[in-house]
Amino acid sequence: MQWLFDHTGRRYLDMYGGIVTVSVGHCHPKVTAAAVEQMNTLSHTTNIYYHPKIHEYAAALTARLPGDLKVAYFVNSGTEANDLAITMAKLYTRQTDVISLRNGYHGVMGPTAMSTWRHDLPLAPAFHHAMNPDVYAGLWGGSNCRDSPVQTNRACDCTGQCLAAEKYYQQLEEVFKYSLPRGRVAAFIAESIQGVGGAVQFPKGYLKKAFELVRINGGVCISDEVQTGFGRTGEHFWGFEGHGVRPDIVTMAKGIGNGFPLAAVVTTPAIAEALTQALHFNTFGGNPVASAVGLAVLDVIETERLQRNAASVGTHLLLALAELRDKFECVGDVRGKGLMIAVELVRDKESRVPMANKHFMDIWDHCKEMGLLLGRGGFNGNVLRVKPPMCITRQDADFAVAVLRRALQAHSEKVRRV
Ligand code: PMP
Repeated sequence: MQWLFDHTGRRYLDMYGGIVTVSVGHCHPKVTAAAVEQMNTLSHTTNIYYHPKIHEYAAALTARLPGDLKVAYFVNSGTEANDLAITMAKLYTRQTDVISLRNGYHGVMGPTAMSTWRHDLPLAPAFHHAMNPDVYAGLWGGSNCRDSPVQTNRACDCTGQCLAAEKYYQQLEEVFKYSLPRGRVAAFIAESIQGVGGAVQFPKGYLKKAFELVRINGGVCISDEVQTGFGRTGEHFWGFEGHGVRPDIVTMAKGIGNGFPLAAVVTTPAIAEALTQALHFNTFGGNPVASAVGLAVLDVIETERLQRNAASVGTHLLLALAELRDKFECVGDVRGKGLMIAVELVRDKESRVPMANKHFMDIWDHCKEMGLLLGRGGFNGNVLRVKPPMCITRQDADFAVAVLRRALQAHSEKVRRV
């Protein structure tokens, strides 16, 4: 479940693996049983024979999505999902320019641009990056700008409307104006909360306005839910719901399969129809074993009420971590939602300069020595990423905070001595 054991049998609380794969817990018995049962029945590729499991899973998965997001494609990784989403967007819009955000992560793209998909558009899309709407490390920000129970300590000047959202939006408009000569775009892709980038949350209202702008200019909006989907943000099943937007394409991976290679793209019938212009197949995408696993994961999230657990334990954890931020000079920011949390370590609160690598490693390793595994992220590698399996308890959260407090204390004393 939430524990990992090393080669000596020592136990570690895994406060990171949840995001990489294990949404519902390592070796979850129901998920494992579903995979074994299907392997004992039939395991093969999807692109020559269909199996009922793929339909069953597609129906269960799309039932979790709003509106006409009702057509599912299955692949094996987040990269493949995003690659396919971009191809769909190109064929649907007949455009090839794509906008993403700086500091975002969507995988290691490329294969579609090298293959012959038998369609008539240029194979490689052109990518443009808009400024990252980061209210802590970016140019503009304020404490009330994020959709979170825990606020940052930078004063917020917004009165009613979020100023940061407005400024970053203007910068996005400039990308259309200066980088896209005809202003037309195939797609805009964004995570609902940036994962690898260090749980960066956008100011309220930004994504909504960005989606509107993209649609006015003929593009489709892709939500990369590889990290934020499946209840992790607590309040909602999908991260995009927290922004009050409805994407045209949603991509999913990682937690969707609890460690099994499974990923998906869900879109509307109209966009799916456009993909028929291209030759498309995926050898193992949606194979019966992956589909059985996906079904079991959905079932476990539901029956074990993991989304609700993510909300309650996550908020408890965020509030406890916010106390560490108030106590330690080197804890610049604590942010997140549900069990998608970040602790940004800095040289000092005033400068917000990222903590030096050596110091970060000391704290990170010290936590590990005390039995706590945390992730690392952010563009400067100075963000502790807290993204456990969604089955963790309050006691686990308290243990994690106690360990981190001790590591931060030891670090502060060391720095003071020097
Ligand atoms: N999107 C996001 C938001 C991710 O975090 C990742 C992986 N870190 C990917 C896409 C790519 O997924 P994969 O590694 O399965 O290709």
